[in-house]
Amino acid sequence: MLIVASHNGAIGMRQAKAALEGGGSAMDAVEAGTRLVEANPAEHSVGYNGYPNILGELELDASIMDGRTLNSGAVALLRGYPYAISVARQILERKLPHVLLAGEGAERFARETGAEKRGEMLSDDIRQMWQARLATVGAAQWAASQPADAPLLDLVKLATDPQRVAGTVNFLAIDSAGNICSGVSTSGWAWKYPGRIGDSPIIGAGNYADNRYGACCCMGMGEMAIRAGTARSVVLYMRMGMSLDEAAHTAMRDLHDLGGEYIGHMSLLALDRHGEHIGLASEAGRKYIYQTGDMPQYAEVERGLVDLPRRWAGEPRG
Ligand code: ASP
Repeated sequence: MLIVASHNGAIGMRQAKAALEGGGSAMDAVEAGTRLVEANPAEHSVGYNGYPNILGELELDASIMDGRTLNSGAVALLRGYPYAISVARQILERKLPHVLLAGEGAERFARETGAEKRGEMLSDDIRQMWQARLATVGAAQWAASQPADAPLLDLVKLATDPQRVAGTVNFLAIDSAGNICSGVSTSGWAWKYPGRIGDSPIIGAGNYADNRYGACCCMGMGEMAIRAGTARSVVLYMRMGMSLDEAAHTAMRDLHDLGGEYIGHMSLLALDRHGEHIGLASEAGRKYIYQTGDMPQYAEVERGLVDLPRRWAGEPRG
């Protein structure tokens, strides 16, 4: 058994391992680990107290994929329900004939299936951060009054800063039956245009798992992973005969083909069906964590550095 997670998944590692040790499935482990990150008020890129959109509203994206059946569940633009990963899981558990629900439909489904709701999703600190960001781009007045139908296009271009204020949690697991599951949860870019959906809930872009080959989850500028189909690419390259290492590097190299100016950072975590794992990032010093059944504690590993062009005006995240 194996659990691999992005570094911010550390808070959920013990729970994820306990799920597997208690005879739970890879999906139980992924959900259990992710929920602790979603509940963590100090983690501003996932779940409760994440970064809001330009209107100051928190819109969550998440997905989960079962590598045995290729069944998947995903939610986007979910408001008021901190455990987006659990709502995503219910889409496949309840056998809804859909994969992805967004916005009001996702919230309706969450309510109907008894998901935990939370009245206030943002702390005062995060609200102040949002106001401060709008003030730095000359929109403090606007933030206070928020006139309906005010144009947002230019404001979003000025305010969003995905190099510094974004993030995601990735969990991948293999259980004792050899089944693989992958899960991704995020609040997306800070100060994004309302309704923006990133790669995290897009199966094939930010998340993909197939027991026969392996799995991959992404973090970074989701628009890039959507355009390149990154998570599915890694798994498909393994299917075509590449090693995990070659597949992951090739998928990252594919990002060089993307034109346009919104090109920035990208990271991925992947594993193969034998339990080999890899983490790559376009920024130095990034780490991920993993734990096998015989390890009393998770271990940290430095991600391999992959050079990517950077055409986004913002500074890289610290
Ligand atoms: N991939 C996420 C998104 O684009 C954000 C991130 O990982 O930084 O929504």
